[in-house]
Amino acid sequence: MSIKTANLGFPRIGSHRELKFALESYWAGKSNAAALLETAKKLRAENWELQQQKGIAIIPSNDFSLYDHVLDLAVMVGAIPAAYGWKGGPVDLDTYFAMARGSTGESHHGDCGHVHHGHGVPALEMTKWFDTNYHYMVPELRRDQAFTLTANRPLEAFLEAKALSIHTRPVILGPVTFLKLAKSTEAGFDTVELLDRLLPVYAKIFAELSAAGADWIQVDEPCLVLDLSDSERAALNQTYRALGEVVPDLKIMLAGYFGDLGDNLPAAIELPVAGLHVDLVRGPQQVEILLERTPDSLVLSLGVIDGRNIWRADLNAILNRIAPLVSRLGEHRLQIAPSCSLLHVPIDLDLEAGLDGELKTWLAFATQKLDELAVLGSGAADRSGVIGALEASLRAVAARASSSRVHDAGVAVRLAGIDGRMKRRGRAFLARKALQDDRLRLPLFPTTTIGSFPQTPEVRKSRAAYVKGAISGSDYEAFLRKETESAIRWQEEIGLDVLVHGEFERNDMVQYFGEQLSGFAFTAHAWVQSYGSRYVRPPIIFGDVSRPKPMTLEWWRYAQSLTEKPVKGMLTGPVTILNWSFVRDDLARADVSRQIALAIRDEVTDLEKAGAAMIQIDEAALREGLPLRQADWKAYLDWAVESFHLCSTGVADETQIHTHMCYSEFNQIIGAIAAMDADVISIETSRSKMELLEAFRSYKYPNEIGPGVYDIHSPRVPEVAEMTELMQLARGRLSDGQLWVNPDCGLKTRKWEEVRPALVNMVAAAHVLRTTG
Ligand code: GLN
Ligand code: ZN
Repeated sequence: MSIKTANLGFPRIGSHRELKFALESYWAGKSNAAALLETAKKLRAENWELQQQKGIAIIPSNDFSLYDHVLDLAVMVGAIPAAYGWKGGPVDLDTYFAMARGSTGESHHGDCGHVHHGHGVPALEMTKWFDTNYHYMVPELRRDQAFTLTANRPLEAFLEAKALSIHTRPVILGPVTFLKLAKSTEAGFDTVELLDRLLPVYAKIFAELSAAGADWIQVDEPCLVLDLSDSERAALNQTYRALGEVVPDLKIMLAGYFGDLGDNLPAAIELPVAGLHVDLVRGPQQVEILLERTPDSLVLSLGVIDGRNIWRADLNAILNRIAPLVSRLGEHRLQIAPSCSLLHVPIDLDLEAGLDGELKTWLAFATQKLDELAVLGSGAADRSGVIGALEASLRAVAARASSSRVHDAGVAVRLAGIDGRMKRRGRAFLARKALQDDRLRLPLFPTTTIGSFPQTPEVRKSRAAYVKGAISGSDYEAFLRKETESAIRWQEEIGLDVLVHGEFERNDMVQYFGEQLSGFAFTAHAWVQSYGSRYVRPPIIFGDVSRPKPMTLEWWRYAQSLTEKPVKGMLTGPVTILNWSFVRDDLARADVSRQIALAIRDEVTDLEKAGAAMIQIDEAALREGLPLRQADWKAYLDWAVESFHLCSTGVADETQIHTHMCYSEFNQIIGAIAAMDADVISIETSRSKMELLEAFRSYKYPNEIGPGVYDIHSPRVPEVAEMTELMQLARGRLSDGQLWVNPDCGLKTRKWEEVRPALVNMVAAAHVLRTTG
């Protein structure tokens, strides 16, 4: 006897990034659609077979996507904006990829010999998928949107698996989450209002699946973990009443994940669905309510293996936690599952030959998580069959808990020693400003950049050669010095006021620091999809964090030695490092953040000692880390701000602290930004026509701000007049003495041919501003 194991989704990218290479080859015109689709089919088959071989009872299908599952659904239901030129009928690959990536306007010869897409169309907008680092394409819906089934993808996937003799449970994104995540192209209408028109398409999909022999479908409604409006709750009600009635033979496993269902749980549990999946990793306390309230016929899928992190589970603790549910509901009404799709974790730990052996025994990637599910499935019914595995789990948990690799007494002492003075600057901002103005003597509207200059093919090539051992450390360093020197010379030449060293030595703004801090590990193959064919390898924070030695000091010192102008010290902030890593689960995120902050504080202090008058601490991902529920925002922002204080307050009032944030809805976090009390913040604003400054104006934000005037996401070179106009808009909202002139973000992804004229224009724009009232 055992409890059924169920998986909610498996990574699509292939253990050796096969999907990325197939996509890029197709986009480059080096291979045809048939080859791409063949690779995709092979990956799906491999995933199904792996799950079958691991003993997973309920295997998902239609969890695969060539680019993004939200885009897939939009295309499947015919929600294709007119600009993409779709005329009805099946949607071809080029239309799909035009929605994903934009089309350049270059003619592209499809396999059929026809020429598609004669004109350029931008891609759909892309945004963060809940609080993950996965990004989805935002569907665009009109008030008069019609929906039609262009292809029954869950059915195709189900049949494809069936042909391999694997009976699957197809997955589809639920209609309410889909509509809620979509954006409306017209003001004053809520996309959820389109539900009545969308439901018939779902009904058709369900009916066809049922006719083909599917018995269950997994319907993902992660919106269940968000704050929902009454109309959204009503929409969920309407959806599951309707779908249950139209196709009674197809059982629905309604999946809410990425958190506690919270105030939505009582309603969710009453919905007329056959099954409910809950995330017990992030919401373990739900067990109590489930014990009390689960209706008699409902099947529960218990999300007990962490689909968002890479740690090996404490299997014994999980079995203990779910034991009351097992005895109350019985084995047949339970399934054991990961908390969410395994999309968000890397595929296979066994590929990490270079990773420290002890650390490896604490980790589980997607493949290993399948093994854990299997152990839990049989152990939940009867532990005697899996004693060996449970003992191994105990040993791993105990070893990690007591390992000296994880616990550093020195770090604990420092954390305990945090006091109030480490959380504030000496004087208030205006007094600091007077001292800094006196020291720095910058003109009005000072010009600067955000830190990085182009990572040219030569820079990348040189780094790759160094990493491979093809060139020596000293040759690599000599090369970087040369790049840095010419960047400094060039910045002086065009008359920028505050210079940067250019970050040529950095592979990535988080990895560069992680590699020099203790407590971090890096992988070779542990890729996770960020969007489309873009994958990242997040660092793993496994232990107490400290800084063995200075990280950026020598580069700053060298750059500053070349010029009389101030060069900013350039660091990544603790919250950003945290939000872009896999974080240990045995310590509160707030404490991990504080540890990183203290390490950065040491670097800040060293930079100041070496003579840096300005130090920038980037918090690009601060807004990204906001919890899904508003009730949790304050706690997060409190420790995020505290972390910024911990790293930035060890300096004299004469030292100017900068920070940088990429595009954000600043009105949600303006209070926290003000509390951070950076002397200068640079932000991404060029595309919003400075509307984002409204949050700062209405808050009466007192400190200095550099609103970006150069859209670094585009190869286009902005004219002087454009940038002057943007700054004039900024002057309408803030005082002249507050304003800096800078690009939206770092320039690492641009080419020098674009950056040079753009920054020359930017400096010219600042001159115009200085001479106009
Ligand atoms: N200093 C970093 C750079 O210029 C900041 C990048 C970011 O905010 N994403 O590249
Ligand atoms: Zn940025």
